[in-house]
Amino acid sequence: MKAKKPMIFCDFDGTITNSDNIIAIMKKFAPAEWDDIKNKVLSQEISIKEGVGKMFSLLPSEKKKVITEYILAHAEIRDGFKEFVAFTKEEDIPLYIVSGGIDFFVEPLLDGLVEEANIYCNHSDFSGETINILWPHSCDSECNNDCGCCKPSIIRKLAKTDTFKIVIGDSITDLEAAKLSDQVIARDFLIKKCEEHSISFSPFETFFDVMDILKKREVTA
Ligand code: MG
Ligand code: ZN
Repeated sequence: MKAKKPMIFCDFDGTITNSDNIIAIMKKFAPAEWDDIKNKVLSQEISIKEGVGKMFSLLPSEKKKVITEYILAHAEIRDGFKEFVAFTKEEDIPLYIVSGGIDFFVEPLLDGLVEEANIYCNHSDFSGETINILWPHSCDSECNNDCGCCKPSIIRKLAKTDTFKIVIGDSITDLEAAKLSDQVIARDFLIKKCEEHSISFSPFETFFDVMDILKKREVTA
């Protein structure tokens, strides 16, 4: 049997960056009511799409520049990410970023590292009074989670039958993608979720760990 071709689907917030940028933006710029919306998302009372849309609608569009500058100044890219991107290029492994984050901070933070064509995230419109989030990658007919940026739908679109699907992530929003994948590389809350759902995974903290995990696969494949 022919070996399957690896393809990587990598989360952004809390995976490529050390912490979650939407939470950082809300903590700094939103009125107190954002916290209640966040809690409703976590308890699954409202969908991620509804919650994120509502949180950003609390922010005036005129704050675009200060918010973007704040995130670019404070977000930290996890150790080894640059080397990891170079590794995927050398090995000719397609790398897609699948993110519930928003284009105005995801794209500049990945500038010079990942081409925009390989980045799947939510978009934003600053033409109204408050920030309006747009959803170019919402759920296909097989998903009814109202994800916002639907990772399972993107995987179904990009992967072929001979694709070995590798998912890298950190949180609940990566769980459905992890269920569809052939290999999961996880940190933080996603580890707990994989254990609960009996999904096998390799733990990581830096992208040097991720490279070691992928190199092992090449030896045994
Ligand atoms: Mg994440
Ligand atoms: Zn979905």
